[in-house]
Amino acid sequence: MKTSIACPSNRCKPGSKLLGIRQENGTVTILPEPLSIDESFIEKVKEHPVPAERRFRFTNKCIENGCNQWTGKGCGVIEEVVQYLDRIPVNEVLPPCSIRVHCRWFLQKGADACTICPYIITEITENELSGTE
Ligand code: SF4
Repeated sequence: MKTSIACPSNRCKPGSKLLGIRQENGTVTILPEPLSIDESFIEKVKEHPVPAERRFRFTNKCIENGCNQWTGKGCGVIEEVVQYLDRIPVNEVLPPCSIRVHCRWFLQKGADACTICPYIITEITENELSGTE
């Protein structure tokens, strides 16, 4: 059976798991293990004026053609953001991450994806890439 590929920048919705938490300095700390979320968590975070996708990162199944960011060959988000790698400090040690073996971004861009991953905020990235913000 085909193992599903994980999207590391998904929406706060049923079936998603909490992958990372944005810190005060703006970077995202990736949790060693994604945490399950339930309806009450989703409802609670929606009460906050800042969208959940700007404060947290969520993981869910990569749906490929069902996603606006799919280029036909891969995830357009990581293809776009790795161009900015030279703007951030490179850490030789990758952050511990339990989804790495089936992470869409890692499978596409390897360690470069993990280097830039903590700088990616789902809500902002999606809007910027789609030109809606
Ligand atoms: S890009 Fe790397 S650190 Fe980020 S979710 Fe994927 S495997 Fe984890």
